[in-house]
Amino acid sequence: MTWGAIATWRMAHDGVVEALRLLAENDQAGDAVEALIKTVEDYPYYKSVGYGGLPNAAGILELDAAYMDGDSFKIGAVAGIRDVKNPISVARKLSEEKFNSFRVGEGATNYAMLEGFERKNMLTRRAHRIWEKRLEEIRLYNLNPYDGHDTVGAIALDQAGTMVAGTSSSGLFMKAPGRVGDSPLSGSGFYVDSEIGGAAATGLGEDLMKGCLSYEIVRLMGEGLSPQKACDQAVYGFHDKLTQRYGKAGAFSLIAMNKAGEWGVATNVEFTFSVGNEQNKPQIFIANKGENHTTHIEPITKEWLEAYEKRIKAPVE
Ligand code: ASP
Repeated sequence: MTWGAIATWRMAHDGVVEALRLLAENDQAGDAVEALIKTVEDYPYYKSVGYGGLPNAAGILELDAAYMDGDSFKIGAVAGIRDVKNPISVARKLSEEKFNSFRVGEGATNYAMLEGFERKNMLTRRAHRIWEKRLEEIRLYNLNPYDGHDTVGAIALDQAGTMVAGTSSSGLFMKAPGRVGDSPLSGSGFYVDSEIGGAAATGLGEDLMKGCLSYEIVRLMGEGLSPQKACDQAVYGFHDKLTQRYGKAGAFSLIAMNKAGEWGVATNVEFTFSVGNEQNKPQIFIANKGENHTTHIEPITKEWLEAYEKRIKAPVE
């Protein structure tokens, strides 16, 4: 059996490397996805996931995460969880519950505490300072408060043929307290069926929810489309439909992998992702919308990576 993993954004790359190492050693897809996402959650310079994530309008960091097993369809999810080190691990644990498997707010945080998950102040000084600055900028220049968000979404396929999907996000920067995006919502932020494949999303949750794009991509793969064709058809088809019917479409990007370890992505903005499988070492690519509902994908350049590294670590005065 082959194996592989794909995840959204450049920030997921170290996690993808770790996930592929585990999968090569015949570990389970669930462990690979959890390890992948924890790597992103733990890194303080990623501003949109876990520790170091940017807070809501009230200066409070509320985190969303989900986990789905493509064999059993078990799903666990948390939304608006606070001060818990690894929301993905809480979501995974919740996927074992028959009832109450999607918890929000205090209910999610209390569950994590009762289950012995590590409590941690997830709001870094840096994230707090960025929040203070943004408040000031919004007041002075009337800026769009919601710039700055990205989710880590991941799909893994293990040697036994099991597929797992997971997501973790701090959602939109400056979101209203209690706002929940697509990331913890089955069908929108993620979906996986080990007999077909899986998909996960990043982008404006309010719009992703309108199209249930992760489910749609899995459905199309189930009809025989390759992951790339399924992503192109679902993402660009919905982008056009939403523009027509709703007047505009927010930024969104989807990744997919099928049970053969083949992958695809589609996006209506510049989008980076990391992917690898049995044949190909993990690699970061950059994707853009191409002509006629296609996606233009190329390997990331050294210059891009260096500029990225500088940008995420730039001092915040
Ligand atoms: N999908 C996330 C949300 O709306 C944000 C993102 O991925 O950019 O909460």
